[in-house]
Formats: sequence, C-alpha cells, structure tokens
Amino acid sequence: MKEVILITGSSRGIGAATALLAADQGYAVCINYVRDAQAAEALSSRVNAAGGEAIAVQADVSQEADVERLFAEVDARLGTLTALVNNVGVLEQKCRLSDISVQRLERVLRTNVISYFLCCQQAVRRMSTATGGQGGRIVNVSSVAARIGSAGEYIDYAASKGAVDTLTIGLAKEVAAEGIRVNGVRPGLIYTDIHASGGEPGRVARLEAGVPMQRGGQPEEVAEAILYLLGPGASYITGSILDVAGGR
Ligand code: NAP
Repeated sequence: MKEVILITGSSRGIGAATALLAADQGYAVCINYVRDAQAAEALSSRVNAAGGEAIAVQADVSQEADVERLFAEVDARLGTLTALVNNVGVLEQKCRLSDISVQRLERVLRTNVISYFLCCQQAVRRMSTATGGQGGRIVNVSSVAARIGSAGEYIDYAASKGAVDTLTIGLAKEVAAEGIRVNGVRPGLIYTDIHASGGEPGRVARLEAGVPMQRGGQPEEVAEAILYLLGPGASYITGSILDVAGGR
C-alpha cells in the first residue's frame, strides 16, 4: 500500500527533518508551511530530485478552512492519507504569566492546540475503519515544556503542549479499535529557529550543559523517533509519549 504522510509546519526545523526521513523511507510527503514558500518548495524539489514524491502546500493550520483545503489537496495530489504528523508549533517572547495577554493566549492555543484537533479530525475521517478507511497512524509533537511548565518563560506554550499530550492519550483510546495508532513525542532542547521567536536564538547553547547528555538535540534525532512511532516496529504502541530530550 502506498504510504502518504502529511507533516504540518515542515518547511524547516523538526518538520523538515521528518519530511526528508519519511521520503527516504518511501512515503509520499506533503510539506505544509504558512509563510516560507521558498523553503518549502526547495525541500519538495530536493525530495523529487532524489526520486521521491513530495508536494508543498501553503495552509495556516490554525484555520479550519485552510485545514480542509490542505487535506483535500493531499487526497487529490498524493492519494489516501496513511500518516499524519501534527508538528506545527509557535512560542512567543519570554515573559511572566501576569504579562500574557488574552490575544497572545488565543494565538498560541489556536496554533498549537486547535490546529492539532482540526488535523486529527480530518485524518480520522479518512483513516478510520469505522468509516471505510484502511487505518493509519498519527504522531503529535509535544514538548518537555508540558512536563516542566516553563516558569518565567512561556507557561502558555507549556500548557498548550500539556493539552497536546491529553489529546494524544484520549484520541489513541477513542480510535484504537478503528485501525489508528496515535502517539506523541516530547522533544527537549533542539537546535531550530523556534528559539529566536521566543527572543533567544542561542537558548539551546546556553542551556545544553544542564541536559544530562550535556548537549542539545538535532531535528534529525526527533525525526527518527517520529518515524519509529509511525512505522511497523511500533505496531503495538498507541497512546504513548516518547521523550526525545537527552534525559532532561
Ligand atoms: P520551527 O523551526 O520554528 O518551525 C516551525 C514550522 O511551523 C515552520 O515550518 C513554519 O512555517 C510552520 N508554521 C508556523 N505556524 C504555522 C501555521 N499556522 N500553519 C502552518 N505552518 C505553520 O519549529 P521547530 O523547532 O521545528 O518545532 C517543531 C515542533 O517541535 C513544534 O511543535 C515545537 O513546539 C516542538 N518542539 C520544539 C523544540 C525545540 O527545541 N526546537 C522543543 C520541544 C518541542 P513557515 O516556515 O512558513 O513560517
């Protein structure tokens, strides 16, 4: 059966590394982005030039109409979806809880939580054996922040990842008998651009000595965990959340 994967927020960082590894493993890949068309198209061209199959689709996954259009494009251009990675995530400038505005809370929760619900809805409709589907796998990208709370930095982001973990546990149980496995990964400090949006591009380098393994992680190391959870080696694993955090 043809494997078709959609990875939200995959023009760079962990999503891009996951797209490349999935393509290497034979998946047809939908690379999703919101702004950086150039990066997404370059990644897609790289996969296609190496003999794989990829498309790049712009969609703001925090918006329901965009999510519906994104999944319809996957149906039309790649075929039946077999795997979804909810990877999109944003964080805003570090601050204390008392300084978090309602507008910021709404932005963070809409992008980090509501998008995951919207994409899971679309995926389950297509995958569930209860509605004629062939089954499938979902991996939700959470964060160690869900465990440690990110005090003084971004409790809103940490709480959004706590919600992602609960979504993973609940949905895994809800669709376990319908051929769908749902798991999560919790990355720790990973070298990507996300830390710049929190106001500290050098955050991983500053904190990595405090990680038990004494280094930050690479996006490719998270991608390996995601592909493991999607793959046949994880056939009896659902509702699990795997820390990819060097012991943090
Ligand atoms: P990143 O480098 O900042 O990349 C974010 C990606 O998401 C980009 O491709 C961006 O697209 C896309 N994006 C943002 N908002 C979007 C939206 N509304 N709709 C569609 N795409 C959108 O992030 P990352 O560090 O790889 O993080 C990936 C995931 O890992 C996130 O869920 C993050 O919370 C989680 N995580 C990361 C770390 C870490 O240390 N890096 C640690 C724990 C968890 P454009 O390029 O078009 O803007």
